[in-house]
Amino acid sequence: MFDYLIVGAGFAGSVLAERLANASDKKVLICDKRNHIGGNAYDHYNEHGVLVHKYGPHIFHTNSREVFDYLSRFTQWRPYEHRVQASVDGQLVPMPINLDTINKLYGLNLTSFQLEEFFKSVAEPREHLRTSEDVVVSRVGRDLYEKFFRNYTRKQWALDPSELDASVTSRVPVRTNRDDRYFTDTYQAMPLHGYTRMFERMLDSPNIKIALNCDYQEIADEFAYREMIYTGPVDAFFDYCYGELPYRSLEFKHETHNVAQFQPAPVVNFPNEHAYTRVTEFKYLTGQEHQKTSIVYEYPQAEGDPYYPVPRKENADIYTKYKALADATSDVHFVGRLATYKYYNMDQIVAQALTTYAKMRGEKRAAAAVAAAAAAGAAFNVGGNGNRNDNGHGKHTRELLSSAR
Ligand code: FAD
Ligand code: UDP
Repeated sequence: MFDYLIVGAGFAGSVLAERLANASDKKVLICDKRNHIGGNAYDHYNEHGVLVHKYGPHIFHTNSREVFDYLSRFTQWRPYEHRVQASVDGQLVPMPINLDTINKLYGLNLTSFQLEEFFKSVAEPREHLRTSEDVVVSRVGRDLYEKFFRNYTRKQWALDPSELDASVTSRVPVRTNRDDRYFTDTYQAMPLHGYTRMFERMLDSPNIKIALNCDYQEIADEFAYREMIYTGPVDAFFDYCYGELPYRSLEFKHETHNVAQFQPAPVVNFPNEHAYTRVTEFKYLTGQEHQKTSIVYEYPQAEGDPYYPVPRKENADIYTKYKALADATSDVHFVGRLATYKYYNMDQIVAQALTTYAKMRGEKRAAAAVAAAAAAGAAFNVGGNGNRNDNGHGKHTRELLSSAR
């Protein structure tokens, strides 16, 4: 009998498995339909011996000391500050847009102060910053929007920035100084021996059993467990009863070249040329020394593994309905980027998982207190489904599901 069946061995599932096994002495079965742990952060040595990220570049950055300290139990770090160049008008310029970007692009010699004035002169003021277009155009005007954001976004999401929430392009700042780092978080580092090694250490516990190549639906009836933690797509869990939530996918084209260095920056973005959005050269990220070098091209597409929730109101409305079902399914905890339909970075997922664990412990303590009080003869009425053995959804959820169909 397992205490928990955890669906998905990415950050969300692995952090919860580790906490439940090591801090609460629970028996955990964690499964993943892929043939590896680590979820989208999985990395491996390819056939040439170069360490690559199978699902595109994963750069760790956070402002949360708690998250950084927690992960530091499982890995040493390699300090790494990420830098990106964008190919625009035939030259490579720093992205996010900064003082050097503008001076190089327009052949100017502005100071930071003059650049602020320049942005003000070209910006199109907007009363409300509702869309991803509003955010950029109101800060840097239409020309820079067209050069750096419009076409990249249309490729990445198959939507115009005017159709996407402001939160999407807000991820990328605009600067008037010469800081060319992609992120400015307090902690910026890569796991010294890679993500997969870090996950192996997280899951290395006698209380944790791992089942790979295994969809949870194949085993949910075979093994007894008390509660489930689900980190897959939330719409799939509920049989798409409110329709499919759009997730954006990518095709990754990996290549290895017989040269020590392929491009002049870790990532080069191509807002306007090519069907792919960006090219990543992994050795910059990992610090590995090797005679050859491996790169990956990212081709956005609709079909394929779900990678990105698509932030816009229509989708948030659908998700709200699934969330009501999820909230009513008291013996399943929904955690992670796909299960909560949030465009979260790795550190935010770790934080979400740690918070979920704290809440579960709190609830358990409260439940134990209630049970103890009940045993002592107090007239308490314990609600909820309690521990279940039937591996089915709770009655309340079944009712919600049937009314949804
Ligand atoms: P996932 O990693 O997606 O794990 C979910 C797991 O559940 C998957 O392994 C899946 O196979 C499994 N699963 C789903 N359904 C089932 C089922 N029915 N049965 C069994 N298993 C199932 N974040 C950063 O902080 N920095 C970055 O630089 C960065 N770059 C990124 C680049 C790309 C291209 C992408 C797509 C994401 C990037 N992210 C980055 C985000 C990061 O990948 C996520 O925040 C994080 O991996 C989410 O972890 P998760 O556990 O929620 O989901
Ligand atoms: N973006 C863009 N041009 C760029 C970089 C980013 O238009 O050169 C927009 C695009 O919509 C992208 C979003 O900003 O999806 C967020 O960029 P980020 O680099 O955070 O994307 P991720 O690494 O999550 O794919």
